[in-house]
Amino acid sequence: TERTFSIIKPDATRRNLTGKVNAVIEDAGLRIVAQKRIRMSRDQAEKFYEVHKERPFFGELVDFMISEPVVVQVLEGENAVARYREVMGATNPAQAADGTIRKLYAESVGENSVHGSDSLDNAEIEIAQFFTDAEIV
Ligand code: ATP
Ligand code: MG
Repeated sequence: TERTFSIIKPDATRRNLTGKVNAVIEDAGLRIVAQKRIRMSRDQAEKFYEVHKERPFFGELVDFMISEPVVVQVLEGENAVARYREVMGATNPAQAADGTIRKLYAESVGENSVHGSDSLDNAEIEIAQFFTDAEIV
Protein backbone atom coordinates (compact mmCIF):
# COMPACT_ATOMS: atom_id res chain seq x y z
CA THR A 1 0.00 0.00 0.00
CA GLU A 2 1.03 3.52 -0.88
CA ARG A 3 0.37 7.11 0.18
CA THR A 4 -0.32 10.19 -1.89
CA PHE A 5 -0.86 13.87 -1.10
CA SER A 6 -4.09 15.67 -2.00
CA ILE A 7 -5.34 19.24 -1.82
CA ILE A 8 -9.00 20.23 -2.09
CA LYS A 9 -8.47 23.61 -3.74
CA PRO A 10 -10.16 26.98 -3.01
CA ASP A 11 -12.79 26.73 -5.78
CA ALA A 12 -14.08 23.54 -4.13
CA THR A 13 -13.85 24.62 -0.47
CA ARG A 14 -15.59 27.91 -1.39
CA ARG A 15 -18.53 25.97 -2.86
CA ASN A 16 -18.73 23.67 0.19
CA LEU A 17 -17.73 20.61 -1.83
CA THR A 18 -15.27 19.05 0.65
CA GLY A 19 -17.68 16.29 1.60
CA LYS A 20 -18.63 15.52 -2.00
CA VAL A 21 -14.97 15.31 -3.04
CA ASN A 22 -14.22 13.07 -0.05
CA ALA A 23 -17.11 10.78 -1.03
CA VAL A 24 -15.54 10.25 -4.48
CA ILE A 25 -12.15 9.58 -2.85
CA GLU A 26 -13.56 7.05 -0.39
CA ASP A 27 -15.78 5.37 -2.99
CA ALA A 28 -12.61 4.83 -5.06
CA GLY A 29 -11.15 2.77 -2.22
CA LEU A 30 -8.73 5.39 -0.94
CA ARG A 31 -8.54 6.00 2.82
CA ILE A 32 -8.14 9.55 4.19
CA VAL A 33 -5.43 8.97 6.82
CA ALA A 34 -4.74 12.65 7.55
CA GLN A 35 -6.69 15.82 6.81
CA LYS A 36 -6.69 19.45 7.85
CA ARG A 37 -8.14 22.74 6.68
CA ILE A 38 -5.50 25.44 6.40
CA ARG A 39 -4.91 28.79 4.82
CA MET A 40 -1.75 28.43 2.71
CA SER A 41 0.81 31.19 3.04
CA ARG A 42 2.22 32.74 -0.12
CA ASP A 43 5.62 31.19 0.71
CA GLN A 44 4.06 27.75 1.13
CA ALA A 45 2.17 28.00 -2.18
CA GLU A 46 5.21 29.29 -4.08
CA LYS A 47 7.35 26.47 -2.70
CA PHE A 48 4.69 23.87 -3.38
CA TYR A 49 4.33 24.89 -7.06
CA GLU A 50 8.02 25.74 -7.53
CA VAL A 51 8.29 23.44 -10.61
CA HIS A 52 5.84 25.75 -12.39
CA LYS A 53 7.55 29.04 -11.49
CA GLU A 54 8.55 29.83 -15.08
CA ARG A 55 5.07 29.11 -16.45
CA PRO A 56 2.87 32.07 -17.45
CA PHE A 57 0.11 31.03 -15.04
CA PHE A 58 2.37 30.77 -11.95
CA GLY A 59 1.33 34.10 -10.36
CA GLU A 60 -2.34 33.42 -10.97
CA LEU A 61 -1.96 29.88 -9.56
CA VAL A 62 -0.33 31.09 -6.35
CA ASP A 63 -2.92 33.87 -5.88
CA PHE A 64 -5.68 31.30 -6.38
CA MET A 65 -4.21 28.80 -3.89
CA ILE A 66 -4.04 31.43 -1.13
CA SER A 67 -7.43 33.03 -1.93
CA GLU A 68 -9.41 30.81 0.44
CA PRO A 69 -8.64 27.98 2.85
CA VAL A 70 -7.77 24.60 1.36
CA VAL A 71 -8.04 21.07 2.74
CA VAL A 72 -4.76 19.13 2.67
CA GLN A 73 -4.92 15.36 2.90
CA VAL A 74 -2.92 12.16 2.90
CA LEU A 75 -4.63 9.31 1.04
CA GLU A 76 -3.65 5.67 1.45
CA GLY A 77 -4.40 2.63 -0.67
CA GLU A 78 -3.11 0.27 -3.30
CA ASN A 79 -1.31 2.28 -6.01
CA ALA A 80 -2.60 5.43 -4.30
CA VAL A 81 -0.62 7.86 -6.48
CA ALA A 82 -1.87 6.52 -9.81
CA ARG A 83 -5.29 5.67 -8.45
CA TYR A 84 -5.90 9.21 -7.21
CA ARG A 85 -4.69 10.74 -10.51
CA GLU A 86 -7.31 8.53 -12.19
CA VAL A 87 -10.04 9.60 -9.75
CA MET A 88 -9.13 13.30 -10.18
CA GLY A 89 -9.36 13.26 -13.98
CA ALA A 90 -7.48 15.38 -16.51
CA THR A 91 -6.08 18.80 -15.49
CA ASN A 92 -8.54 20.47 -17.87
CA PRO A 93 -12.07 19.52 -16.73
CA ALA A 94 -13.28 19.67 -20.36
CA GLN A 95 -11.03 16.65 -21.00
CA ALA A 96 -11.76 14.80 -17.76
CA ALA A 97 -13.52 11.43 -17.89
CA ASP A 98 -17.04 10.95 -16.56
CA GLY A 99 -17.24 10.31 -12.83
CA THR A 100 -13.90 12.00 -12.06
CA ILE A 101 -13.71 14.78 -9.48
CA ARG A 102 -12.68 17.35 -12.08
CA LYS A 103 -15.46 16.34 -14.47
CA LEU A 104 -17.99 16.54 -11.67
CA TYR A 105 -16.83 19.73 -9.95
CA ALA A 106 -13.96 21.66 -11.57
CA GLU A 107 -14.64 25.08 -13.05
CA SER A 108 -11.64 25.56 -15.36
CA VAL A 109 -8.09 24.39 -16.05
CA GLY A 110 -6.84 26.77 -13.36
CA GLU A 111 -9.63 26.30 -10.81
CA ASN A 112 -9.75 22.54 -11.00
CA SER A 113 -10.84 21.55 -7.48
CA VAL A 114 -8.07 19.12 -6.51
CA HIS A 115 -4.35 18.45 -6.54
CA GLY A 116 -2.78 15.00 -6.42
CA SER A 117 0.91 14.05 -6.38
CA ASP A 118 2.25 12.94 -9.77
CA SER A 119 4.86 10.44 -8.46
CA LEU A 120 5.69 8.48 -5.33
CA ASP A 121 8.79 10.63 -4.75
CA ASN A 122 6.77 13.84 -5.01
CA ALA A 123 4.09 12.38 -2.74
CA GLU A 124 6.68 11.92 0.02
CA ILE A 125 8.07 15.42 -0.47
CA GLU A 126 4.61 17.03 -0.53
CA ILE A 127 3.29 15.10 2.49
CA ALA A 128 6.34 16.26 4.49
CA GLN A 129 5.58 19.90 3.57
CA PHE A 130 2.23 19.77 5.39
CA PHE A 131 2.15 16.87 7.85
CA THR A 132 4.30 15.39 10.60
CA ASP A 133 4.44 11.58 10.87
CA ALA A 134 2.36 11.75 14.06
CA GLU A 135 -0.52 13.43 12.22
CA ILE A 136 -0.90 10.53 9.79
CA VAL A 137 -2.95 7.72 11.29
P1 ATP B 1 -1.99 19.37 -9.81
O1 ATP B 1 -0.48 19.49 -9.85
O2 ATP B 1 -2.65 20.60 -9.19
O3 ATP B 1 -2.46 18.09 -9.26
P2 ATP B 1 -1.95 18.59 -12.57
O4 ATP B 1 -0.77 17.76 -12.17
O5 ATP B 1 -3.09 17.95 -13.25
O6 ATP B 1 -2.52 19.38 -11.33
P3 ATP B 1 -0.03 20.54 -13.51
O7 ATP B 1 0.43 20.56 -14.91
O8 ATP B 1 0.87 19.99 -12.44
O9 ATP B 1 -1.44 19.78 -13.48
O10 ATP B 1 -0.44 22.01 -13.14
C1 ATP B 1 -0.59 22.40 -11.80
C2 ATP B 1 -1.78 23.30 -11.66
O11 ATP B 1 -1.53 24.52 -12.32
C3 ATP B 1 -3.06 22.77 -12.29
O12 ATP B 1 -3.77 21.89 -11.48
C4 ATP B 1 -3.83 24.06 -12.48
O13 ATP B 1 -4.44 24.47 -11.26
C5 ATP B 1 -2.74 25.02 -12.86
N1 ATP B 1 -2.62 25.11 -14.31
C6 ATP B 1 -2.05 24.19 -15.13
N2 ATP B 1 -2.13 24.56 -16.42
C7 ATP B 1 -2.73 25.79 -16.41
C8 ATP B 1 -3.11 26.72 -17.41
N3 ATP B 1 -2.86 26.50 -18.70
N4 ATP B 1 -3.73 27.87 -17.02
C9 ATP B 1 -3.97 28.11 -15.72
N5 ATP B 1 -3.65 27.28 -14.72
C10 ATP B 1 -3.04 26.12 -15.05
MG1 MG C 1 0.90 18.46 -11.05
